[in-house]
Amino acid sequence: MSNERKQTIRQEIISHLENGPLTVRDISQSVSIMEKDVYHHLAFIEKTVRRQKRRIHVEPYYCLHCGFEFKNRKTFKKPGKCPGCKDGRIAPAVFWIVSQSD
Ligand SMILES: [Zn+2]
Repeated sequence: MSNERKQTIRQEIISHLENGPLTVRDISQSVSIMEKDVYHHLAFIEKTVRRQKRRIHVEPYYCLHCGFEFKNRKTFKKPGKCPGCKDGRIAPAVFWIVSQSD
């Protein structure tokens, strides 16, 4: 993928994230890229919006079985399974862009 195309995709993702909560699947469908590529773009977008005094707000992934929340996760990637009950059914995290004071 060209750098120009990557830039365009990131700008598109940013405008979608400005408009409301999205899961990784929502993002992948809205800009027609693979879900696995979304994580990489999100990490880059996080740096971009920080320079604009904004950040990506995350409603964390959580375990559908016991409700464990994956708070303060260092990555945008979906966890494999729950550390509490070892269940693998994890509800998707939801992302959107907010100003840093929010
Ligand atoms: Zn669990």
